[in-house]
Amino acid sequence: MMKERTLSIIKPDAVTKNVIGQIYSRFENAGLKIIAARMVHLSYADAEKFYAVHKNQFFFKNLIKFMISGPIMIQVLEGEDAIAKHRKLMGETDPKKADKGTIRSDFSESIDANTIHGSDAPKTAAIEIAFFFPEMNIYSRYSITSGTP
Ligand code: ADP
Ligand code: MG
Repeated sequence: MMKERTLSIIKPDAVTKNVIGQIYSRFENAGLKIIAARMVHLSYADAEKFYAVHKNQFFFKNLIKFMISGPIMIQVLEGEDAIAKHRKLMGETDPKKADKGTIRSDFSESIDANTIHGSDAPKTAAIEIAFFFPEMNIYSRYSITSGTP
């Protein structure tokens, strides 16, 4: 088990549905701490940059159009195994395949409007966090002296 950080984004469908707080509760109940957060309405150019790894996928244009359709809520989560824990809370990419009780199973309409983004590995988490938050705007609640989160 490792203390980690991950980038989490509540997508425009969930912001429109007014369920930011319900989703935040799931993070907290799973032992994850919100150590930075901001609401953003992405520009086309920034959404393209953020999702550059998918630029050759057939769904890329739709994904960008959806991600700029309204404001999103972006947060950095901290905790033991934060990346895997957050991905487990999210559920499968396709909400029809997501386990019951996961965020995507409970809130998502489709694979396009699938409510939440989460980093998939430590390297991508570091890149994605730095894309939105300078270190000075991240408020870790991990104590170096006690070593406990
Ligand atoms: P995840 O968000 O679960 O990490 P990916 O990184 O594979 O999934 O894809 C990024 C996003 O692109 C997904 O969350 C989804 O919104 C969209 N996407 C992925 N696969 C498809 C697909 N087959 N059809 C439409 N949209 C897709
Ligand atoms: Mg992904």
